[in-house]
Amino acid sequence: MCADRDEWGSRMLPAQFDYIAAASVEEAIAAKAEGGDETRFLAGGQSLLPMMKLRFATPSKLVDINRIAGLDAIRSHNGHLHVGALVRHADIAASGAVSGAVASAAPWISDPLVRNLGTLCGSVAHCDPEGDWNSVLLATGAEVVAQGPSGRRAIDIGDFVQDFFTNSLAEDEMVVAVHIPVPSGRSGGSYQKLERKVGDYATVGVAAHLELAADGTISAAGVAMTSVAPINRKATEAEALLVGNAPSAELFAEAGAAAAAAADPRDDVRGSARWKRQVVAAFTGRALAAAAEQAQG
Ligand SMILES: Cc1cc2nc3c(=O)[nH]c(=O)nc-3n(C[C@H](O)[C@H](O)[C@H](O)COP(=O)(O)OP(=O)(O)OC[C@H]3O[C@@H](n4cnc5c(N)ncnc54)[C@H](O)[C@@H]3O)c2cc1C
Repeated sequence: MCADRDEWGSRMLPAQFDYIAAASVEEAIAAKAEGGDETRFLAGGQSLLPMMKLRFATPSKLVDINRIAGLDAIRSHNGHLHVGALVRHADIAASGAVSGAVASAAPWISDPLVRNLGTLCGSVAHCDPEGDWNSVLLATGAEVVAQGPSGRRAIDIGDFVQDFFTNSLAEDEMVVAVHIPVPSGRSGGSYQKLERKVGDYATVGVAAHLELAADGTISAAGVAMTSVAPINRKATEAEALLVGNAPSAELFAEAGAAAAAAADPRDDVRGSARWKRQVVAAFTGRALAAAAEQAQG
């Protein structure tokens, strides 16, 4: 139980809540099913706890998943990178198993304190359009693995991210892992992020992923954007322009313009919408050039 006023009488502490530390995924799911919408899973707490302190979130119960064994591994399996629900941002930044846009984005998540506690799966579930990971997952074509009382299902990231801070999980489902495809052929990826200062959320972020055919043309492309729409948004027209063509500065500039047209930024303290579109165009070009260089490497 937590006090709801601090010593000055201001309401800057979380409202009262119950807490359980689940010992297994099954126990966590049962507790969530019992509490419904009022119950939240607690992973790294790096988004949920600040929201509770500001009373933007007032769950009546927290189900802490941090003591559940077996969720903290990064594994390569069947052409996919499996990232468990308790893999921290810092684990990914330090892992030799990751590459492309995933490896490129990890050091850009906030600062060391947040990276040591926050999880990729927590970030994915949170669906904050300023979060970096969902852009990376959209660009790479990842799947979210959800577990509920009747078993597991894989959800395409495009279907998982529903809206502003809204995912497609059922009330009794938990994210147990994310599966990111690892292409067998030549591929590369990059995440380009503009931030006002170290540790800040993105003013603009762009994730790019490219795969090359034997003749050097682009056989698959993924481009997705952070902080420039109400959700992390895929730049599908830019992707379509790229496929079937040879990588070039002109092609990447064209794709950048298409991504900028697909962005829907707002004027805010980080800059004007007009300027953010220009940054999207430039950063898409940069991300694609870096991805192509890696794939050709
Ligand atoms: C100062 C600061 C700066 C930050 N900067 C950035 C940044 O630059 N880029 C960025 O991407 N993020 C940033 N973050 C957010 C950070 O990445 C969080 O770690 C992340 O958004 C949430 O992960 P978490 O493990 O902390 O989740 P929590 O805070 O524990 O949970 C977040 C939400 O997801 C739900 N949830 C968590 N795990 C699961 C699960 N396994 N299944 C279902 N639901 C789940 C929770 O119930 C809650 O609703 C920042 C945070 C802070 C405090």
